[in-house]
Amino acid sequence: MIEGIIIKGIGGFYYVKTELGVIECRARGVFREKNITPIVGDRVLIRINNEDNKGYIEEIFERRTHLIRPPVANITQSIIVMSIKEPTINFRLLDRFLVMAEYKKLNICICINKVDLAEEENVSRVLEIYNKAGYKTLRTSTKTMEGIDELKSVLDNQITVFAGPSGVGKSSLLNKINPNLKLKSGEVSKKANRGKHTTRHVELFELNSNSFVLDTPGFSSLSLDFIENPEELSNYFREFNEYKYECKFNSCLHYKEPDCEVRKQVQIGNISNQRYDNYLQLLEEIMNARRF
Ligand code: GDP
Ligand code: ZN
Repeated sequence: MIEGIIIKGIGGFYYVKTELGVIECRARGVFREKNITPIVGDRVLIRINNEDNKGYIEEIFERRTHLIRPPVANITQSIIVMSIKEPTINFRLLDRFLVMAEYKKLNICICINKVDLAEEENVSRVLEIYNKAGYKTLRTSTKTMEGIDELKSVLDNQITVFAGPSGVGKSSLLNKINPNLKLKSGEVSKKANRGKHTTRHVELFELNSNSFVLDTPGFSSLSLDFIENPEELSNYFREFNEYKYECKFNSCLHYKEPDCEVRKQVQIGNISNQRYDNYLQLLEEIMNARRF
Protein backbone atom coordinates (compact mmCIF):
# COMPACT_ATOMS: atom_id res chain seq x y z
CA MET A 1 0.00 0.00 0.00
CA ILE A 2 1.09 3.51 -0.66
CA GLU A 3 0.16 6.82 0.91
CA GLY A 4 -1.27 9.77 -0.96
CA ILE A 5 -3.62 12.73 -0.94
CA ILE A 6 -6.85 13.07 -2.90
CA ILE A 7 -6.47 16.07 -5.20
CA LYS A 8 -9.65 15.66 -7.23
CA GLY A 9 -12.84 13.61 -7.18
CA ILE A 10 -15.23 13.18 -10.10
CA GLY A 11 -18.13 10.76 -10.33
CA GLY A 12 -16.81 8.13 -7.97
CA PHE A 13 -13.22 8.40 -9.18
CA TYR A 14 -10.57 9.86 -6.92
CA TYR A 15 -7.27 11.16 -8.16
CA VAL A 16 -4.65 10.45 -5.56
CA LYS A 17 -1.28 12.15 -5.67
CA THR A 18 1.42 9.74 -4.52
CA GLU A 19 5.17 9.52 -4.89
CA LEU A 20 4.47 7.39 -7.96
CA GLY A 21 2.40 10.14 -9.57
CA VAL A 22 -1.34 10.66 -9.70
CA ILE A 23 -3.29 7.39 -9.50
CA GLU A 24 -6.95 7.05 -10.45
CA CYS A 25 -8.74 5.26 -7.66
CA ARG A 26 -12.08 4.02 -6.54
CA ALA A 27 -13.13 3.78 -2.92
CA ARG A 28 -13.68 0.41 -1.29
CA GLY A 29 -17.34 -0.47 -0.74
CA VAL A 30 -16.73 -0.56 2.97
CA PHE A 31 -16.66 3.25 3.04
CA ARG A 32 -20.14 3.44 1.56
CA GLU A 33 -21.37 0.93 4.11
CA LYS A 34 -19.96 3.12 6.85
CA ASN A 35 -21.39 6.20 5.17
CA ILE A 36 -17.96 7.75 4.70
CA THR A 37 -17.29 9.70 1.53
CA PRO A 38 -13.69 10.42 0.66
CA ILE A 39 -13.17 14.10 -0.14
CA VAL A 40 -10.47 16.24 -1.68
CA GLY A 41 -7.65 16.75 0.78
CA ASP A 42 -8.07 13.37 2.45
CA ARG A 43 -4.82 11.59 3.20
CA VAL A 44 -5.29 7.99 2.19
CA LEU A 45 -3.67 4.60 1.79
CA ILE A 46 -4.24 3.04 -1.61
CA ARG A 47 -3.55 -0.32 -3.17
CA ILE A 48 -2.45 -0.17 -6.77
CA ASN A 49 -3.39 -2.81 -9.30
CA ASN A 50 -0.24 -3.54 -11.31
CA GLU A 51 -2.16 -4.51 -14.44
CA ASP A 52 -3.85 -1.21 -15.13
CA ASN A 53 -2.08 1.06 -12.64
CA LYS A 54 -5.39 1.99 -11.06
CA GLY A 55 -6.05 1.81 -7.37
CA TYR A 56 -8.41 1.35 -4.50
CA ILE A 57 -8.62 3.60 -1.48
CA GLU A 58 -8.17 1.27 1.48
CA GLU A 59 -7.93 3.69 4.34
CA ILE A 60 -8.65 7.35 5.10
CA PHE A 61 -6.58 9.00 7.79
CA GLU A 62 -8.23 11.17 10.38
CA ARG A 63 -9.05 14.64 9.06
CA ARG A 64 -7.26 17.53 10.68
CA THR A 65 -9.84 20.00 9.42
CA HIS A 66 -13.02 19.70 7.42
CA LEU A 67 -14.64 22.47 5.43
CA ILE A 68 -18.18 21.84 4.25
CA ARG A 69 -18.45 24.40 1.46
CA PRO A 70 -16.45 23.60 -0.54
CA PRO A 71 -16.04 20.06 0.82
CA VAL A 72 -12.36 19.64 1.54
CA ALA A 73 -10.28 18.03 4.25
CA ASN A 74 -7.01 18.92 5.90
CA ILE A 75 -6.80 22.54 4.86
CA THR A 76 -4.16 24.10 7.10
CA GLN A 77 -4.23 27.72 6.07
CA SER A 78 -6.50 30.46 4.79
CA ILE A 79 -5.27 33.48 2.89
CA ILE A 80 -7.94 36.12 3.22
CA VAL A 81 -7.76 38.44 0.25
CA MET A 82 -9.17 41.95 0.13
CA SER A 83 -8.41 44.64 -2.39
CA ILE A 84 -7.56 48.08 -1.11
CA LYS A 85 -9.61 49.57 -3.98
CA GLU A 86 -11.97 48.41 -6.72
CA PRO A 87 -13.71 47.06 -4.74
CA THR A 88 -12.85 49.14 -1.68
CA ILE A 89 -11.77 47.11 1.29
CA ASN A 90 -14.70 46.00 3.42
CA PHE A 91 -13.52 45.70 7.00
CA ARG A 92 -16.71 44.23 8.29
CA LEU A 93 -16.45 41.41 5.80
CA LEU A 94 -12.75 40.96 6.52
CA ASP A 95 -13.46 40.54 10.23
CA ARG A 96 -16.21 38.06 9.42
CA PHE A 97 -13.81 35.99 7.32
CA LEU A 98 -11.33 36.13 10.18
CA VAL A 99 -13.90 34.80 12.64
CA MET A 100 -14.58 31.84 10.35
CA ALA A 101 -10.91 31.05 9.85
CA GLU A 102 -10.21 31.34 13.58
CA TYR A 103 -13.11 29.02 14.30
CA LYS A 104 -11.63 26.45 11.92
CA LYS A 105 -8.26 26.88 13.65
CA LEU A 106 -6.47 27.63 10.40
CA ASN A 107 -3.22 29.49 9.92
CA ILE A 108 -4.27 32.89 8.73
CA CYS A 109 -2.65 35.44 6.46
CA ILE A 110 -4.36 38.64 5.34
CA CYS A 111 -3.45 39.67 1.82
CA ILE A 112 -4.23 43.22 0.74
CA ASN A 113 -4.21 43.17 -3.07
CA LYS A 114 -4.29 45.88 -5.78
CA VAL A 115 -1.87 48.05 -3.82
CA ASP A 116 -0.90 49.59 -7.19
CA LEU A 117 -4.22 51.46 -7.06
CA ALA A 118 -3.79 53.13 -3.68
CA GLU A 119 -1.61 55.51 -1.73
CA GLU A 120 1.08 53.77 0.23
CA GLU A 121 -0.14 55.24 3.52
CA ASN A 122 -3.69 53.98 3.03
CA VAL A 123 -2.35 50.47 2.75
CA SER A 124 -0.07 50.92 5.76
CA ARG A 125 -2.94 52.10 7.91
CA VAL A 126 -4.86 48.91 7.15
CA LEU A 127 -1.91 46.63 7.71
CA GLU A 128 -1.12 48.30 10.99
CA ILE A 129 -4.55 47.51 12.44
CA TYR A 130 -4.22 43.84 11.62
CA ASN A 131 -0.56 43.45 12.50
CA LYS A 132 -1.34 44.92 15.86
CA ALA A 133 -4.18 42.43 16.28
CA GLY A 134 -1.60 39.69 15.74
CA TYR A 135 -2.10 38.77 12.10
CA LYS A 136 0.42 38.11 9.41
CA THR A 137 -0.24 40.48 6.50
CA LEU A 138 0.91 40.90 2.94
CA ARG A 139 0.59 43.67 0.39
CA THR A 140 0.36 42.46 -3.17
CA SER A 141 -0.25 43.57 -6.72
CA THR A 142 -0.64 41.28 -9.70
CA LYS A 143 0.15 44.30 -11.90
CA THR A 144 3.51 45.27 -10.40
CA MET A 145 4.21 41.81 -8.88
CA GLU A 146 4.82 43.42 -5.50
CA GLY A 147 4.54 40.84 -2.73
CA ILE A 148 4.08 37.81 -4.99
CA ASP A 149 7.31 36.14 -3.83
CA GLU A 150 6.32 36.70 -0.22
CA LEU A 151 2.93 35.19 -0.94
CA LYS A 152 4.61 32.13 -2.47
CA SER A 153 6.70 31.59 0.62
CA VAL A 154 3.62 31.80 2.85
CA LEU A 155 2.18 28.88 0.89
CA ASP A 156 5.12 26.61 1.62
CA ASN A 157 4.28 23.38 3.43
CA GLN A 158 0.61 24.30 3.72
CA ILE A 159 -2.67 23.31 2.16
CA THR A 160 -4.15 26.70 1.51
CA VAL A 161 -7.59 27.98 0.68
CA PHE A 162 -8.00 31.50 -0.62
CA ALA A 163 -11.00 33.36 0.73
CA GLY A 164 -12.45 36.77 0.07
CA PRO A 165 -15.19 38.49 -1.87
CA SER A 166 -15.44 38.34 -5.62
CA GLY A 167 -13.37 40.76 -7.69
CA VAL A 168 -10.52 41.28 -5.22
CA GLY A 169 -8.02 39.32 -7.34
CA LYS A 170 -7.96 35.80 -5.91
CA SER A 171 -7.75 34.06 -9.29
CA SER A 172 -5.23 36.60 -10.57
CA LEU A 173 -3.01 35.94 -7.55
CA LEU A 174 -3.26 32.18 -7.96
CA ASN A 175 -2.30 32.50 -11.62
CA LYS A 176 0.78 34.55 -10.68
CA ILE A 177 1.79 31.99 -8.09
CA ASN A 178 1.62 29.23 -10.62
CA PRO A 179 0.86 30.07 -14.25
CA ASN A 180 -0.03 26.42 -14.87
CA LEU A 181 -3.21 26.90 -12.88
CA LYS A 182 -4.73 29.07 -15.65
CA LEU A 183 -7.73 29.96 -13.56
CA LYS A 184 -10.33 32.13 -15.15
CA SER A 185 -10.17 35.65 -13.88
CA GLY A 186 -11.93 38.89 -14.56
CA GLU A 187 -15.33 39.91 -15.76
CA VAL A 188 -15.35 38.02 -19.04
CA SER A 189 -15.36 34.58 -17.52
CA LYS A 190 -17.88 35.60 -14.90
CA LYS A 191 -20.36 36.73 -17.53
CA ALA A 192 -19.76 33.61 -19.57
CA ASN A 193 -20.57 31.40 -16.60
CA ARG A 194 -23.65 33.22 -15.51
CA GLY A 195 -26.76 31.07 -15.52
CA LYS A 196 -24.97 27.94 -16.56
CA HIS A 197 -25.22 24.96 -14.31
CA THR A 198 -21.57 24.16 -14.30
CA THR A 199 -20.78 21.15 -12.16
CA ARG A 200 -18.42 22.55 -9.60
CA HIS A 201 -15.69 20.27 -8.47
CA VAL A 202 -12.89 21.30 -6.22
CA GLU A 203 -9.31 20.48 -6.91
CA LEU A 204 -6.04 20.81 -5.06
CA PHE A 205 -3.15 22.14 -7.08
CA GLU A 206 0.31 21.02 -6.17
CA LEU A 207 2.86 23.80 -5.87
CA ASN A 208 5.57 21.47 -4.63
CA SER A 209 5.48 18.07 -3.02
CA ASN A 210 4.22 19.39 0.30
CA SER A 211 2.28 22.50 -0.72
CA PHE A 212 -1.16 22.66 -2.24
CA VAL A 213 -3.73 25.32 -2.98
CA LEU A 214 -7.43 24.81 -3.45
CA ASP A 215 -8.67 26.10 -6.80
CA THR A 216 -11.97 27.40 -5.39
CA PRO A 217 -12.42 30.12 -2.80
CA GLY A 218 -13.45 28.93 0.65
CA PHE A 219 -16.12 30.05 3.10
CA SER A 220 -18.74 30.72 0.46
CA SER A 221 -21.41 30.85 3.14
CA LEU A 222 -20.67 33.55 5.65
CA SER A 223 -23.29 32.62 8.19
CA LEU A 224 -22.09 32.67 11.78
CA ASP A 225 -24.57 30.03 12.87
CA PHE A 226 -21.72 27.80 14.08
CA ILE A 227 -21.48 30.15 17.05
CA GLU A 228 -23.99 28.82 19.54
CA ASN A 229 -23.41 31.23 22.34
CA PRO A 230 -22.66 34.97 22.08
CA GLU A 231 -19.88 34.50 24.64
CA GLU A 232 -17.91 32.45 22.13
CA LEU A 233 -17.50 35.27 19.65
CA SER A 234 -14.69 37.04 21.46
CA ASN A 235 -12.59 33.86 21.26
CA TYR A 236 -12.28 34.57 17.56
CA PHE A 237 -11.04 38.13 18.05
CA ARG A 238 -7.56 37.05 18.96
CA GLU A 239 -6.34 40.37 20.36
CA PHE A 240 -9.15 40.33 22.95
CA ASN A 241 -7.88 37.10 24.42
CA GLU A 242 -4.97 38.51 26.34
CA TYR A 243 -7.25 40.93 28.22
CA LYS A 244 -10.52 39.15 28.75
CA TYR A 245 -9.41 37.34 31.91
CA GLU A 246 -9.15 40.71 33.59
CA CYS A 247 -12.78 41.58 32.95
CA LYS A 248 -14.86 41.69 36.14
CA PHE A 249 -17.24 39.00 34.91
CA ASN A 250 -16.11 35.64 33.57
CA SER A 251 -18.98 35.72 31.13
CA CYS A 252 -18.24 39.29 30.01
CA LEU A 253 -19.41 39.99 26.46
CA HIS A 254 -17.34 43.20 26.41
CA TYR A 255 -20.59 44.89 25.60
CA LYS A 256 -22.08 47.03 28.37
CA GLU A 257 -20.74 45.27 31.42
CA PRO A 258 -18.95 47.31 34.10
CA ASP A 259 -15.18 46.93 34.54
CA CYS A 260 -14.60 45.42 31.15
CA GLU A 261 -10.90 45.25 30.43
CA VAL A 262 -11.42 44.83 26.69
CA ARG A 263 -13.35 48.09 26.48
CA LYS A 264 -10.71 49.75 28.59
CA GLN A 265 -8.03 48.64 26.13
CA VAL A 266 -10.11 50.00 23.24
CA GLN A 267 -10.19 53.38 24.97
CA ILE A 268 -6.44 53.35 25.58
CA GLY A 269 -5.91 52.41 21.95
CA ASN A 270 -4.36 48.98 22.45
CA ILE A 271 -7.32 47.40 20.67
CA SER A 272 -8.51 48.97 17.43
CA ASN A 273 -11.78 50.87 17.62
CA GLN A 274 -12.75 49.59 14.24
CA ARG A 275 -12.19 45.97 15.19
CA TYR A 276 -14.20 46.50 18.35
CA ASP A 277 -17.07 48.12 16.43
CA ASN A 278 -17.17 45.17 14.06
CA TYR A 279 -17.13 42.84 17.04
CA LEU A 280 -20.21 44.61 18.45
CA GLN A 281 -21.98 44.35 15.10
CA LEU A 282 -21.38 40.62 14.89
CA LEU A 283 -22.31 40.21 18.55
CA GLU A 284 -25.65 41.92 18.00
CA GLU A 285 -26.25 39.81 14.95
CA ILE A 286 -25.68 36.64 16.97
CA MET A 287 -27.80 37.86 19.88
CA ASN A 288 -30.68 38.77 17.56
CA ALA A 289 -30.57 35.39 15.88
CA ARG A 290 -30.82 33.68 19.28
CA ARG A 291 -33.64 35.80 20.63
CA PHE A 292 -36.38 33.15 20.29
P1 GDP B 1 -11.50 37.19 -7.99
O1 GDP B 1 -12.97 37.31 -8.26
O2 GDP B 1 -11.19 37.49 -6.57
O3 GDP B 1 -10.92 35.89 -8.44
O4 GDP B 1 -10.79 38.38 -8.81
P2 GDP B 1 -10.07 38.31 -10.24
O5 GDP B 1 -8.74 37.65 -10.15
O6 GDP B 1 -11.04 37.78 -11.23
O7 GDP B 1 -9.79 39.87 -10.51
C1 GDP B 1 -10.84 40.82 -10.66
C2 GDP B 1 -10.33 42.00 -11.47
O8 GDP B 1 -9.30 42.69 -10.75
C3 GDP B 1 -9.70 41.60 -12.80
O9 GDP B 1 -10.12 42.53 -13.77
C4 GDP B 1 -8.20 41.68 -12.54
O10 GDP B 1 -7.47 42.01 -13.72
C5 GDP B 1 -8.12 42.82 -11.54
N1 GDP B 1 -6.94 42.71 -10.67
C6 GDP B 1 -6.50 41.61 -10.03
N2 GDP B 1 -5.40 41.87 -9.32
C7 GDP B 1 -5.13 43.18 -9.49
C8 GDP B 1 -4.09 44.05 -9.01
O11 GDP B 1 -3.18 43.69 -8.23
N3 GDP B 1 -4.15 45.36 -9.40
C9 GDP B 1 -5.13 45.84 -10.22
N4 GDP B 1 -5.10 47.13 -10.55
N5 GDP B 1 -6.11 45.04 -10.70
C10 GDP B 1 -6.11 43.72 -10.35
ZN1 ZN C 1 -15.12 42.44 29.02
